[in-house]
Amino acid sequence: MTTVTLEHVSKSFHQESSKITAIDNVSLKIPSGDVLAILGPSGCGKSTLLRLIAGIFQPETGRVLYDDHDLQEIPSMNRGIGMVFQEGALVPHWESRKTVGFFLSLRKREAEVPERLKQISKITGIGLEKLLDRFPKQLSGGEQQRIGIARALARDMRVLLFDEPFANLDAKYRMEARVELKRLMNAFPVTSVYVTHDQTEAVALSHRIAVMRDGHIEQMGTYHQLYTNPHNTFVATFIGTPIMNLFEGYVRDGHWQGENFGGFPLRRDLEEGTKVTMGIRPEHMHLVAENGTLGVVESVTPFFAEHHRLVTVHLAGEIWSLMTPLDHQVEVGSTIQCALEPEEVLFFDTKTGIRIG
Ligand code: ATP
Repeated sequence: MTTVTLEHVSKSFHQESSKITAIDNVSLKIPSGDVLAILGPSGCGKSTLLRLIAGIFQPETGRVLYDDHDLQEIPSMNRGIGMVFQEGALVPHWESRKTVGFFLSLRKREAEVPERLKQISKITGIGLEKLLDRFPKQLSGGEQQRIGIARALARDMRVLLFDEPFANLDAKYRMEARVELKRLMNAFPVTSVYVTHDQTEAVALSHRIAVMRDGHIEQMGTYHQLYTNPHNTFVATFIGTPIMNLFEGYVRDGHWQGENFGGFPLRRDLEEGTKVTMGIRPEHMHLVAENGTLGVVESVTPFFAEHHRLVTVHLAGEIWSLMTPLDHQVEVGSTIQCALEPEEVLFFDTKTGIRIG
């Protein structure tokens, strides 16, 4: 297995007179056998970063290393990259058998193909053999993806790269495909990078997550680290559903004061009047019977599997989200009282978004 290292990598695209910086001075290390998810909004540079790791794009500055070797100096034949794309990217006039066995055939190792296929098919339980005599146009979207994944696995890999492989599948198929892929990744442990904008997928498949924005990495860590210890408001609101509540406020007598809530102690070095944003997750806001902050219920959404309702509440220009147990009836338009768990509040510098408490 291989450790992948990016050292100060940048890449931009030039269009007529304009320049788009897709990747801006990114450094990261993916230890051997690690599965890293790259998560971020559309256009933040996820696919470009993956293509740099794949050697499809060359960095303008910096370098990509596989172990201690610059990727650009490793001949394509020896890079050992398995790549799975969103569209399957199968050759239209090749039967699946030829697609999956292509790499081994090229190296005159056809004899190994049946055993490898049997192994993949057994692990996934998807009956890959059934699909092997079909052309891409005779396969559903999900089946094409399975062939694409089998092709990536049926070769000698150092690194496996996935670019939103299940983005085109419906929700049910997507869940099944994710479970199968997880099984495969456990059976063929290899350094992997998985691009997605779906955090459920990122959590399910990866060990660590890199959250990207505007061509750079905002924060990297386990889902738990990102969820409980976000470095800024972008990560705080990007990770976790429903999203974290943010309230504008300021420093008063060493405490945070907002429109509807206040009195939470702040770092001592903050100047009186400094603008500070308070963040709290909906699961840490509750309806209370008395002494709470008043609000008017705007909407109620039940989540049956999670046994709760998501309630949005409106007061004095602010909208809050909170969770209540499913058996707790809440009427739209009613006035309720709400309280926060003070030990769960986070504070951010309003100007920079950076976490300060
Ligand atoms: P999505 O989730 O929508 O696929 P992404 O996070 O993968 O987006 P990229 O495809 O890496 O984002 O694109 C990053 C930026 O680079 C975007 O602003 C995009 O418009 C731009 N870009 C990507 N490829 C090219 C190209 N070939 N020519 C010009 N600009 C490009």
